[in-house]
Amino acid sequence: MESTPPTPPAPGGEGSSAGAHAQQSGDAAGARTAPITQTTACTHGAAEAASGRVLVSACLLGSRVRYDGRAKTVADAIVDRWRAEGRIVAHCPEVAGGLPVPRPPAEIEPGADARAVLEGRAGIRTPAGEDVTRHFLAGARAALATATEHGVRAALLKESSPSCGLHRVYDGTFTGATTTGPGVTALLLQDHGIAVFAETALEAADAHLRTPPGDPA
Ligand code: SF4
Repeated sequence: MESTPPTPPAPGGEGSSAGAHAQQSGDAAGARTAPITQTTACTHGAAEAASGRVLVSACLLGSRVRYDGRAKTVADAIVDRWRAEGRIVAHCPEVAGGLPVPRPPAEIEPGADARAVLEGRAGIRTPAGEDVTRHFLAGARAALATATEHGVRAALLKESSPSCGLHRVYDGTFTGATTTGPGVTALLLQDHGIAVFAETALEAADAHLRTPPGDPA
C-alpha cells in the first residue's frame, strides 16, 4: 500500500474495482467501496477505442479505493482524451480481490518479490502480520480477466503499490522504503503480454495505444 497524505475529494472518475493506493493528488477519504470495474461511455471514436483500451488503476481516476479511503487522481489531458474516446477500463485489484476500504496497509514480505508471491513462495502482510496474500492474488487475476474481457492493450498503474507498482514497491518494512520490482497485478499483466506503464509515463502509454497491434514501432 502506499502511505500518502490526504488530498481533495476526487471526481467520480470512471469506475473501478477494489483496493486502494496511489498518490498524485491524493483525494479525500470517502466512499467505502467503489464499483469493481467500469468502462467509460464511448461518446465517439468507438472503433478506435475498441482497438486500444487501457486498464487504469481506479485510484488514479478519482475513485477513493486506496487503503486509507483516498484517491490519487491524475489530472492530465491524455486521460481526458482517453475518457472521451471510451478507452478507459478502471480497475482496483485490491477491492476486486475482496479487501475493504479503508483497510490496513499491506506490503510484500521483506526480501521477496511479486514473482515469489505469484508462485506461492512468499506472501503479503499487514503491519499486524495478517496474511492477505489471497486477496492480492485474487485481485491480480480479476485485473487480468477484466483486461482480457475488454480487449485491453495497455495498463496505466499506480507506482509503488504491492498490486499496481511497476518499477518499485514498498519493501515490507512499513517504513516507507521501497525496493525495485513490480507489484503482483502489474507482473501478472506483463506475463500475459499487456504493456504496463506507470502513471508518470502517460505519453508512452498513449503512443503504445495508438500503435497498431503487431507494429514493432
Ligand atoms: S494502487 Fe491499485 S490496488 Fe492500490 S488503490 Fe490504486 S488501483 Fe487499487
